[in-house]
Amino acid sequence: MKYISTRGDAPSLNFEEVLLTGLASDGGLYVPAELPSFSPEQIASWSGLAYHELAYEILLPFVSDCIPAEDFKTILAETYADFSHPAIAPLVQLDRNEWLLELFQGPTLAFKDFALQLLGRLLDYVLKRRNQRVVIMGATSGDTGSAAIEGCRRCDNIDIFILHPHNRVSEVQRRQMTTVLENNIHNIAIEGNFDDCQDIVKASFRDQSFLPEGVQLVAVNSINWARIMAQIVYYFYASLSLGAEKKPIAFSVPTGNFGDIFAGYLAKKMGLPVGQLVIATNKNNVLHRVMSDAVYARTELHQTLSPSMDISVSSNFERLMFDLYESDGATINALMQQFNSESITLNKAAMKKARALFSSASIDDQATCDIIANTYNTTGYLLDPHSATGVGAARICNKDPDQPMVILATAHPAKFPAAIEKADINISATVPAHMSDLFEREERFTVLSNDKASVNQFMIDQL
Ligand SMILES: *Cc1c(COP(=O)(O)O)cnc(C)c1O
Repeated sequence: MKYISTRGDAPSLNFEEVLLTGLASDGGLYVPAELPSFSPEQIASWSGLAYHELAYEILLPFVSDCIPAEDFKTILAETYADFSHPAIAPLVQLDRNEWLLELFQGPTLAFKDFALQLLGRLLDYVLKRRNQRVVIMGATSGDTGSAAIEGCRRCDNIDIFILHPHNRVSEVQRRQMTTVLENNIHNIAIEGNFDDCQDIVKASFRDQSFLPEGVQLVAVNSINWARIMAQIVYYFYASLSLGAEKKPIAFSVPTGNFGDIFAGYLAKKMGLPVGQLVIATNKNNVLHRVMSDAVYARTELHQTLSPSMDISVSSNFERLMFDLYESDGATINALMQQFNSESITLNKAAMKKARALFSSASIDDQATCDIIANTYNTTGYLLDPHSATGVGAARICNKDPDQPMVILATAHPAKFPAAIEKADINISATVPAHMSDLFEREERFTVLSNDKASVNQFMIDQL
């Protein structure tokens, strides 16, 4: 399979090259030149497969020109072996036609494990074969960092540097990163917010001259294609688990960088009957605004109870724009250049398509707490604040009460105790037994100022 850039002016790459590349050289993001497509009979025939077996059927076409089928099968079996629930992505019923897809059964208790457990293993496989070392650099508002670190801790050919905003991630999130003490793991706390961290990472990718000869940076944030790819699987899995693979079901997705919900959109394009796709945002509602008034505009960043969705721009939205504009890279390039300095307005044709595919809602902190409390009081189920925005948006946007609505539960509530406390229901979420010593483990991280040069210097010193 060939991968092409959304800005139309970078070389096309194969899977292995895309895996090792962040942004395309023209500033765009890589997308598959064409998607595999599955018939309803084929999809129905996968009913009852284990998660990793289903992943093999769906993902093999994306990697098969670089990874032999048998090796890929083994990698996938290992990837999902460390998940703590045998169903890997179990469904929980909330109401007659409303379901939660629990995506937090992996090692760091958030859905990012689905992609990053696979990404670490794919990188290790490819790097060993090439006899090459790389440096992974990434910014995190909490969940990406711990999942990336956990995915790479046993990779011999990778050094990983993760920047998080100092004092702006929850203690559980911080400890999940900083208590991993392998020598190839480097945690940096930046005196700034998540966007500051992301800016330093982006600038470092643009100018890698600080690195020693022969060393290259690799991105593991959600612009990495392999992450999006891995997330396609659980949309199919949810449909098959509900026995609903032949009729449309709706999904509501707590959204930040638009990676997770973009995977749902791809599942639909690949043949899965998907009805509505609901974009759930918190007060940082850049996507809800573009859906409402066609204007894509950065605004000030708000700190909310759902910090993993606290972003002012959604990087992966460019991948959708590429489709909305009929794969016209030159137009996307012009729009994104303009977006560097001002807001942009999507044209009528693009908005018509976007609105046919997606609905959206913005759920503020008060509503998030109300949903956590109400759900707990009526069902005994404790939602994390991100998943709660998904539930809230699903209920606002639902167009067909007879269509099953699956809400992606993206994190375990124990990762976000502040929100659970605010919900005022007199219970606190406890971390699962296998993590009960998290608060006693030794931590290691370095606090640095919001400055690219100091970060790069620190990196050279560690390599
Ligand atoms: C990363 C994250 C999100 C947002 O996912 P995107 O792919 O960035 O849209 C939502 N919830 C949780 C818990 C997350 O960690």
